[in-house]
Amino acid sequence: RVSTEQMTAWVTIDLDAIAHNVGELKRRAGNAEVMAVVKGDAYGHGLLPSARAALRGGASWLGVAQMAEALQLRAAGIQAPVLTWLHAPGTDFGPAVQQGIDIGVPAVWELDEVAAAARAAGTTARVQLKADTGLARNGAYGKDWDLLRDAAARLQAEGVIDVTGLFTHFAYADSPQHPTVLQQQELFAERVADADRAGLAVGVRHMSNSAATLTTPGAAWDMVRPGLAVYGLSPVPDLGDPASFGLRPAMTVTARATVAKRVPAGQGVSYGHTYVTPRETTLVDVPIGYADGVPRHASGVGPVQVDGHRFTVSGRVCMDQFMIDVGDLPAQAGSEIVLFGAGDRGEPTAQDWAEAIGTISYEIVTRMSGRLPRRYV
Ligand code: PLP
Repeated sequence: RVSTEQMTAWVTIDLDAIAHNVGELKRRAGNAEVMAVVKGDAYGHGLLPSARAALRGGASWLGVAQMAEALQLRAAGIQAPVLTWLHAPGTDFGPAVQQGIDIGVPAVWELDEVAAAARAAGTTARVQLKADTGLARNGAYGKDWDLLRDAAARLQAEGVIDVTGLFTHFAYADSPQHPTVLQQQELFAERVADADRAGLAVGVRHMSNSAATLTTPGAAWDMVRPGLAVYGLSPVPDLGDPASFGLRPAMTVTARATVAKRVPAGQGVSYGHTYVTPRETTLVDVPIGYADGVPRHASGVGPVQVDGHRFTVSGRVCMDQFMIDVGDLPAQAGSEIVLFGAGDRGEPTAQDWAEAIGTISYEIVTRMSGRLPRRYV
């Protein structure tokens, strides 16, 4: 274990916050179960520690996009139900079938490949059907739904697959008044009824991401499927900050200054001198850059906190570092600079970074690269 005194820049993850957030989501979900979405290395928070914290907090399922992520969970000994939902033709479904991983299937080609893997393994594959109810992304749409339903009914009757669930995903969950939110719920209810008529007796029915879990409780069905809110961020920043939903942001990103130096007025800073010091001042070198996931678009606008004071990235973000002009603050090599955190000590939040560069907090936390050591507290 490396202590932070030896680190240049690092990500701190508050696992109790993750457990707490799942508990809060579970409370809001009423009788529905919680599937904690841990794809994308748990939105940058670290797959395995985050998955375990989510299970501790009351999640009964884990959701991932990719097969490799699902297999990593099993390889680590996590036996909770896992759903994976994004696969291209030619994926080796064998290990997932053998390890009881639920495979989200949007098309007949995939059902056929999963069925072949189940036959080869001499076992029954766990399959959840994915319906497109209006996002027009990965999911069975229109007539393809009918084909998928019929193929699933046939394979289930043969004992090759077990249809363990039926799910869909919202396009506008972050705008709960948008007409598509209701339309998608209605079409999903039709798909559920249609599957019932085909004798599929689907297990868990689910459609709610974080935003729907927080704002559209009527869409919870048997399970909600939040990601962002598990990590304590608000999926609907216009409607409320994390605290207003009882959530605690889990990620803090910190760096330790490598150099602090006095420079005169008129000194251009970093590549291209896009920032020029307005007066004699102290420049601090912050050793974290775009190779670590700090967006280059944060040049001149990314907020940071040093010793309780707010500053902004001065000049361009480089690959490994950026500069800040701290005026007459007595900063020195080793001073800690917080890029973002929970916000409860006055530091910027991931949402502040998102707004500064015109993106969403999802992208800010997810892009913190594997080069930054993760510290779990
Ligand atoms: N379900 C599916 C199918 C997803 O792709 C995602 C992530 O985009 C989620 C659930 C979780 O979404 P959110 O992070 O908005 O809660």
